[in-house]
Amino acid sequence: MVLPNANPTKSYWIEAAESPLRVFRSTVDLPKETDVVIVGSGYTGAATAYWLHRFTEKNDSLPRMLMLEARDICGGATGRNGGQLRPHAYSRYPKWSGLFGPDEALNLIKHEMAHLPAFRELLDHEGIAEEVCFRLGETFDAAMTEKAWARLKNAYMTMQRDHGEDGDVIRDCRLIDNPEVAEEFTQMKSCIGAVVHPAGQVWPYKFVHALLRIVSQKGNLNLQAETPVLEVSERDADGWITVKTPRGDVQTKAVVHATNRWASHLLSDFSSLIFGCRESLASIKAPEGFIKHTGAQHWDHIVNNYHLQLPSPYNTIILGGGKSVIVHNPRNSILNDNEDRQFDGLPEFYQSWPASDVAHWPGKDPAELGRQLDEGGVWSGIESSSIDGFPFVGAVPHHDGHFIAAGFTGHGMPRILLSAAHITPLILSSLGIEFTPPALVAPYPPLPKPFHLTSDRIERLQKLDAKAKYEADMKDALESAKEPFCNTERSRPKMLR
Ligand SMILES: Cc1cc2nc3c(=O)[nH]c(=O)nc-3n(C[C@H](O)[C@H](O)[C@H](O)COP(=O)(O)OP(=O)(O)OC[C@H]3O[C@@H](n4cnc5c(N)ncnc54)[C@H](O)[C@@H]3O)c2cc1C
Repeated sequence: MVLPNANPTKSYWIEAAESPLRVFRSTVDLPKETDVVIVGSGYTGAATAYWLHRFTEKNDSLPRMLMLEARDICGGATGRNGGQLRPHAYSRYPKWSGLFGPDEALNLIKHEMAHLPAFRELLDHEGIAEEVCFRLGETFDAAMTEKAWARLKNAYMTMQRDHGEDGDVIRDCRLIDNPEVAEEFTQMKSCIGAVVHPAGQVWPYKFVHALLRIVSQKGNLNLQAETPVLEVSERDADGWITVKTPRGDVQTKAVVHATNRWASHLLSDFSSLIFGCRESLASIKAPEGFIKHTGAQHWDHIVNNYHLQLPSPYNTIILGGGKSVIVHNPRNSILNDNEDRQFDGLPEFYQSWPASDVAHWPGKDPAELGRQLDEGGVWSGIESSSIDGFPFVGAVPHHDGHFIAAGFTGHGMPRILLSAAHITPLILSSLGIEFTPPALVAPYPPLPKPFHLTSDRIERLQKLDAKAKYEADMKDALESAKEPFCNTERSRPKMLR
């Protein structure tokens, strides 16, 4: 059971956005009564509020919504992530087809890929694509070792074998087998090859703040920063759920748990299903338009870096991963909630990355951070880690009036928008409110089966030995730590040098 850490490191996205909604409270006091309380103001909470508005606008039946956020608005993972709207277009295929079969694996991939046109349509509909620095294009997985290249190629070939060269996802992916061509495309020095596929990028914090502004202006949303929810009751005989906060109690008919890593604080059923995992990112100053594509470098199945460059006037590179440093002390990452701390050695690693890894880097060595170190230059963020690797999306079994979309396991950008669209009609039906699904959601695939929240899934997962799983993950990281690519001068944390 855990609430968000009160004093997290500062992220570039939050500091540079300078949003007027940062610590916004729609009213001085909390309302005594509402229809839906949304706990959490990240991407999940904002997308749910947006869909509740869009599903009911034609019927003029918008429910009263109250969003309660423990930190600043969007102060959790969404305000601290990599900004990559980057579907797993092929790389998870062997694992997923092994677990669920070729068709369900493809459904999972199609659901992620559908987020690219869905973002495009939504942002165009609202006229906010420029504001949130949205871009669609191609991304790459660059293999930095033969081992990584074998794994990436195998994923691509397995999917092609099962679904045909012209399958509707694989058609958009391609292999670059020639190292020189791969280096030119990826701008990554010494890469062996690359797989390229469609992806996007966005300023996640600005996206969430724009959605919340729109729903606050057009709809019935009361937004409350710095208001942690301490307890949520079951529905009583009159249909009311009591939500307790330090600023008073609220009665509501429905609660949406948009709390990601922190879901178990209010719903103990998830205490052995969702855990925290600390990661880190940096902002780096770069010449305008220097980085052409978003992408990732891979050394093995754990060690990677990933990056994008923001458009002008920001021009900043957002660089994450740094796993060749982190694997030396996996307890600082796995099952770790210390979002108020920096990783030992990572700021220096990030600053050395452009000159060390980027072909023809014209900037300074070491690179200049986009902001002062502790003011958004380098920061930590907590990813949620679901015990089976998939989010939990739906009505919470045995808790009438409670809904959840959480546990996105470090990969929410191409999953959350349409997951929130899935729970919206469930919420409205439970309230007896009339709705009309907007045309925007009609063409997109349904929620993949592995995301569905059922009693069976919860009971099955509660029987697993989570401690053993995470101990195994730590052992795995320590194996990677022995590899030469984790033992260069810049990859060893300062205390090990
Ligand atoms: C460092 C890092 C890098 C990442 N990079 C990427 C990436 O590049 N691409 C990608 O797809 N995904 C990435 N992710 C994952 C992605 O950020 C998440 O999947 C997504 O942001 C989750 O959104 P959310 O709204 O569910 O959770 P959050 O954004 O964490 O929102 C949950 C909110 O609930 C609030 N809250 C929790 N408990 C309470 C309570 N009791 N009362 C009130 N409020 C509460 C929290 O303060 C928080 O603001 C990354 C994550 C991290 C941490």
